[in-house]
Amino acid sequence: MARVYNFSAGPAVLPEAVLKKAAEQMLDYEGSGMSVMEMSHRSAVYQKIIDDAEAGIRKLMEIPSNYKVLFLQGGANLQFLMIPMNLAVTKKADFIDSGEWSSKAIKEAKKYGVDCHIVASSTQDNNRYYPKYKAEDVRKDADYLHVTSNNTIYGTKCMKVPQISIPLVADMSSNIMSERFNVADYGLIYAGAQKNIGPAGVTIVIVRDDLIGRIPNLPTMLDYKTHADKGSMYNTPPTYGIYIAKLVFEHMIAQGGVAYYEELNKKKAAIVYDAIDNSKLLKAHITPEHAEDRSIMNIPFFGPNEEINKKFLAEAAAEGLVTLKGHRNIGGMRASIYNAMPIEGCQKLADFIRKFDKENA
Ligand SMILES: *Cc1c(COP(=O)(O)O)cnc(C)c1O
Repeated sequence: MARVYNFSAGPAVLPEAVLKKAAEQMLDYEGSGMSVMEMSHRSAVYQKIIDDAEAGIRKLMEIPSNYKVLFLQGGANLQFLMIPMNLAVTKKADFIDSGEWSSKAIKEAKKYGVDCHIVASSTQDNNRYYPKYKAEDVRKDADYLHVTSNNTIYGTKCMKVPQISIPLVADMSSNIMSERFNVADYGLIYAGAQKNIGPAGVTIVIVRDDLIGRIPNLPTMLDYKTHADKGSMYNTPPTYGIYIAKLVFEHMIAQGGVAYYEELNKKKAAIVYDAIDNSKLLKAHITPEHAEDRSIMNIPFFGPNEEINKKFLAEAAAEGLVTLKGHRNIGGMRASIYNAMPIEGCQKLADFIRKFDKENA
């Protein structure tokens, strides 16, 4: 069967070249006579894989040497707890609430007994824009400010960094490495791998040295210090997922790095948004008046009714444009166009939107 264009929000499309390479190396990784899946994480061969993965992401994101890169498990959801546990020294944290994932991060911090201050929120308007806020609105004595840089469900993003004196923490699960930014502006960046990096099961945490080990006697597995001290090998790491991430990083570097993807992603999003904005039938969740807040990774849009949405999804699938169903929170359609989605997939989707509009409007 031919490969489809997969617009899944996550787990999501991976570069075909990476999948082919993994297939080639499946039975015998570089003369070791075994698959990476079968390999001891304490072996020299595997040590090189995880070292190369770290070197790859450091190069791509130009991560300064005073930051640790951790390969953890438990998804972004576990970080909703680990961050307050490790960073909330005075149990005070500020949040920008830009949608479902931010709300979950807030809920989890509250459960841990953290005094959570919502600096700004867009939930009252169904997250049709990224909440506006001023640096003065952030408490100076909070332990950190938490933001979700890209809202996977609602399709907004914000990579602007407020001038604040407390550490900035960002959930970049759905837009890490999609555009250039300065890592040094953040205290901690985290991302589940399954959107823009690799298979589910790996969580990347990039954390500034001085934010590690602030709180003594944390449970071992929930302490960043454990993982930082042991090079993410305190326990068995998700070895195969890290290997695929390494291949993705190497592939991205060969393509031209994050700058290459930024330019490509902007073009891809413009192609899809242009087709939606010019359609009579379809409307984007993030309307043109909020165009500056539009994500270049996730594009939610709707037909005028459920019948049209269903027809759109069925006919798109028949043309090899799949997993376009919207998130259950808002329904309709959603095109997730992560780094690994080829521009041809976006062109084909835009062509389909124009054809569907002509036939049904
Ligand atoms: C998908 C997603 C999550 C949840 O990630 P898990 O790895 O499933 O825990 C959290 N935040 C954002 C922004 C996401 O897109």
